[in-house]
Order: sequence, then C-alpha cells, then structure tokens
Amino acid sequence: MTQTPQSVPDVPIDEAALVADLLDLLRIPSVSGTAAELDVQEYLVERWRTEDLDVDRWDIDVAALSRDPQFPGMEVERSAAVGVTATLAGDGTGPVLLFNGHTDVVPPGDLDAWTGDPFIPRRMTVDGRDRIVGRGACDMKAGVAAMWTAVRAVKDAGIPLRGSVVLAPVSGEEDGGLGTFALLRHGVTADMCVVPEPTAMDIIPANGGALTFRLTVRGLATHASRRTEGVSAIEKLYPVLLALQSLEERRNAEVDVVMQRWPLAYPLSIGTVQAGDWASTVPDLLTAEGRLGVALGETNEEARTALEAAVAAVCATDPWLAEHPVEVTWWGGQFASGRTPADSPVIGLVSGVHRGLHGRDPEVYGGPYGSDLRLLMGLGGIPTVQYGPGDAAAAHAPDEWVDVDEVTDTARGLVRLILQVCG
Ligand SMILES: [Zn+2]
Repeated sequence: MTQTPQSVPDVPIDEAALVADLLDLLRIPSVSGTAAELDVQEYLVERWRTEDLDVDRWDIDVAALSRDPQFPGMEVERSAAVGVTATLAGDGTGPVLLFNGHTDVVPPGDLDAWTGDPFIPRRMTVDGRDRIVGRGACDMKAGVAAMWTAVRAVKDAGIPLRGSVVLAPVSGEEDGGLGTFALLRHGVTADMCVVPEPTAMDIIPANGGALTFRLTVRGLATHASRRTEGVSAIEKLYPVLLALQSLEERRNAEVDVVMQRWPLAYPLSIGTVQAGDWASTVPDLLTAEGRLGVALGETNEEARTALEAAVAAVCATDPWLAEHPVEVTWWGGQFASGRTPADSPVIGLVSGVHRGLHGRDPEVYGGPYGSDLRLLMGLGGIPTVQYGPGDAAAAHAPDEWVDVDEVTDTARGLVRLILQVCG
C-alpha cells in the first residue's frame, strides 16, 4: 500500500479476451429471479477454475437467509442462488482487496424499443466510439469483465503478491442485494472493496437508500350509475399523492453536500397503480407501489416513519380516509443508505490510480440509488467505492450500451489498484 504509482510495474491487459468474456456474459440472459441468474454464476465458476484461481462455490440457502432479521429483501420469486468467490492469493502478509459485481440484470422491457435481441450482444461504432450493446452491457457485466480481466492480467504477469484479491460476482442485486448479503453471511471479508458499477469512472463512496412500499386504498363499490353512493378508491388516492409530493419536497429541502449535484437527491416515486375490475363499477380497492429515497445518515426506520406519518396526516383530514385509513406496507427491496467514510484509504487509492491513468482527478460524489455498497460498508464494515465503466443513464434502458475504451481503462485501473494494495 505504500508503493507509489511510479514504482508499479506496467502490466498489460488482454483487451481481446476482455471483450470476448464480456460478450459471453451478455449472451446469458441472467434476469433477476430466472434460471439464467444461476447459469451466469456457474459459467464464472467453470471459467475461473480453468484459469486456476482459488474458487469457492456454494449453494445459497435463500429460505434461511430470508428469515434473517437483516435480510435486505427480494422482489422476485427465487428459491435458489449460487455464491462464488475466486481468489488470487498473496503470501498472506498484505491486505485483502475485494471486487464485487452483480451478474443479474433487469428484464429487457419493451422489445420493440431495442434495435436487436437484448441477449445477442452487438459491437458497433457510434459517433466514432466503439460500443457494446446488450442487456447488462453497462449495468454491470462490463464491470464484472473488467475486474476479471484485471485479476487475470496480474496472475499472468506472475507478480508475487503480499495481499489477496477476491472476485465476488453476486446475484440478486437488482431486487435487494441477496447475493452480497449471502457473501457476507458466508464469512467473506476484506480491507477494502471496489464495485465496478457504471459510474462513468467517477468515484461513488455513498448511496442514498431506497425502500419499496405498497399503499392499499379502500373505497366502497357500487354501480357507476349511482356513483355518489359509493366511494372511489382511485379518487381517494389523489390527496395521498399530493401529500407524498409535498413530503418529497420537504425531504429534499436540504441535502448533504455530496448529493447536491442531483436535481432530486431522494426521490419518492409511485411506480405501479392497480384499481378496479369493471369499467362501470366504482372501484373499492386500489394498490399503489413505489419507492422512497432514504437520505444519507437517515435510518430506514426514520424514513418509513416519515412516510407513514405523512399518509396518516392526510387521511385524518378526509372523513372517509379517517375511517378507512390507507395502509402502508413495506415489502421487496429495502436498501438502506450507506457511506464509506471520507478518510477511508480506498477513496484516495482509487483516485490516485485514476489520476495516474487519466492525468486528472475523478469526481467524487454520492449516488441517488441504493446498491450493495450499503451492505458491504454497513453490514460488512468493508470500506467500498463504486468505480466503473458506463453511464448509469444507459442502465435499464433499451439498447443498453457501454464504451469499450472505458471498460479497458477500468481494467487497467484495477490492475494498478491490485498492485498498489496487494503488491
Ligand atoms: Zn447495477
């Protein structure tokens, strides 16, 4: 860790292998909760055994973990998952550096919005830049390919290490963080961690959290021709929506300095609304699901209480809702906010590596989304930054893409980081 960048030997990466591995990963349609989510983990097990890394593969006991009081939540049906680490071991006298990256991807969405099959990756030139397009290209199989490539480069160079570097691909990040939770419960620990999520190679040492909730609004059904004798659950959502908008405004009136680059640091958003079962019936039931942003330094409990109080307050002002209050339930992903302390060495080390490669400091700021960072830092006590290829705006979008140069640059950066931390 005391080595300066100048004393680090120049270790080349294999760019062709990196691209080939990334394309292979993208061909596995590892949507969260599908069988392919396991396939991609098994693929890596096989490849890393062939590459002579020290591979640990275990079956994740999803049912047992989901009973753990600290279980981070899950939004898809899943009865099985596979845990994997692959270690390039040093002589045991140096620190442990963890690279964590999720291998699950979100569904492709509207296929007509894609210019090709989301799971047949394509390499193309756009605006003179070399891109790879496919579901997961940016979020975050490019990052997984980069961390893999970096470890392989150091191994192939035959450089003896004092510390160890551990590759940890995980499932279930997109719907709560099952894989990283399982990793920590399996006993994996480290002195520092990089998660190469798409940050456009900025450094993200903090994340706002995100809590999934459901509102249940009750009305009174009657024939629409006599609607004044019923109560529409759809109409009763309206004052609740306004109350939530004003809650969002209050919660964003003053935000931590590392979050100030975002127009809205802690969004509160409704994502689904379902109501009614017949066009000429006044609907007596509505459910709405959404996501509440959790501020840095705020606990999940505090954030939940704020939303529940706002809903209760608006219900108290409406005669029907006072008698039939809107129910709030918390389900699915419960991402706490998380923050690596500003003086953690990992921030300076990754900044130094970036400066050495690009001749300028990377930007450092908090992300407005929940991620595995809060588990690694909060539960695992592992100082963690996100630093990886790709623009988060391309994530979860049709024709998801990543710039090949950013992927190779990230791999080069991670090589230097391995040598500085573990060399
Ligand atoms: Zn991601």
